[in-house]
Amino acid sequence: MNRYLMTPGPVPVSPNVSISQARPLIGHRGGDFSGLFLSIEDKLARLLRSGGRTVLFPSSGTGALEALAANFTGPDVTALSVSCGVFGDRFREITALYGAKIVSVDVPLGEGVTPDVAAAAVERNPGCGVLLLTQNETSTGVFNPIDKIIAAIPKDKRPLILVDGVSSVGAMPCFPEEWGIDGLATASQKGLLTPPGLGLVWLSERGWEAVSKRKCASYYFDLARQKKLLDKDAPENPYTPPVSLYYALDAALDEILIDGWFSLRSRAARSLAAGIESLGFSLLVKDENFRSPGVTAFSSPSGDIAAVSKALKAAGVEPAGGQGELKGKIIRMSHYHDVRWPEISLALGCLYAALGAGSAGVRDFMKDALAVWEEK
Ligand SMILES: *Cc1c(COP(=O)(O)O)cnc(C)c1O
Repeated sequence: MNRYLMTPGPVPVSPNVSISQARPLIGHRGGDFSGLFLSIEDKLARLLRSGGRTVLFPSSGTGALEALAANFTGPDVTALSVSCGVFGDRFREITALYGAKIVSVDVPLGEGVTPDVAAAAVERNPGCGVLLLTQNETSTGVFNPIDKIIAAIPKDKRPLILVDGVSSVGAMPCFPEEWGIDGLATASQKGLLTPPGLGLVWLSERGWEAVSKRKCASYYFDLARQKKLLDKDAPENPYTPPVSLYYALDAALDEILIDGWFSLRSRAARSLAAGIESLGFSLLVKDENFRSPGVTAFSSPSGDIAAVSKALKAAGVEPAGGQGELKGKIIRMSHYHDVRWPEISLALGCLYAALGAGSAGVRDFMKDALAVWEEK
């Protein structure tokens, strides 16, 4: 039986990306490795619209978040953390572990962070040295408008802006230099359509300056140490990099850097959402401006989400459940990879079957979803 992975990380990778990892290994001290790294860096520069250096760690996204916390914070720093879910809370927790004092602002689950809320929090807490934000809160399917949030904070009052982009980069615009992000963390296995195992960290010029003045409490995640070797004519890593994953990321970036990729992702999200609502499910994120192009969360009209989830899995479709307070209450379906009408109709058809054919409240879900898909 075919299995359709719809978890928001890992996401399905293309055969081309999978096969790229089977290439013979190369040593990581030498021109071949530098060439591979520079190829990735060049593609990331196009994706992020910035030529800044990106550090790649053999870690998942949490490692990339830890790298930001370890390099930017410590007991002398107060961090303002605006969270709207499990991953915002995690970034806060990691930062607290490095000794930073935390000022917390919590937005209700299913809602996004508005520029007003974030800017007011900065205004109330002028002593905060860093602001922690999440671009895409994967636990609820909320997308936060980072560009507008940063723009709402007066430039001369801006703390260093650290952003969890683990489930956003690759699936939606994220232009850290243009927007004023100082530290961006992401990972391979979501929007970047690569197997799990790589954490990526990008810093602004202001960000590099700030970390170069601090002593990092982590040996492995010391960004300044990494940058020293990356800045050589032939860039290197201080420690053995997972070369096979570099091949995969290099191949996957070619699939993302196509015209119209971001609008395809949001079109698929909107079409799937229309079909899910027509089937009578409730979308967790009520305001469509905050709905993620990468992951959609919904609950069941009868409340029995476990039965729907079980039926989906029996049909070969693997979604994710809720996390934290939402455990057992929602289903999350991802659409980071090249989801188009065939995949949308497959997901909706399986949801229809999972509800029990003829279930009350089912409108013309295929028609509604197709109408949105065809709007372009
Ligand atoms: C998945 C995710 C993480 C954690 O990533 P891991 O790769 O599981 O360590 C952090 N933040 C967000 C927003 C995520 O979606």
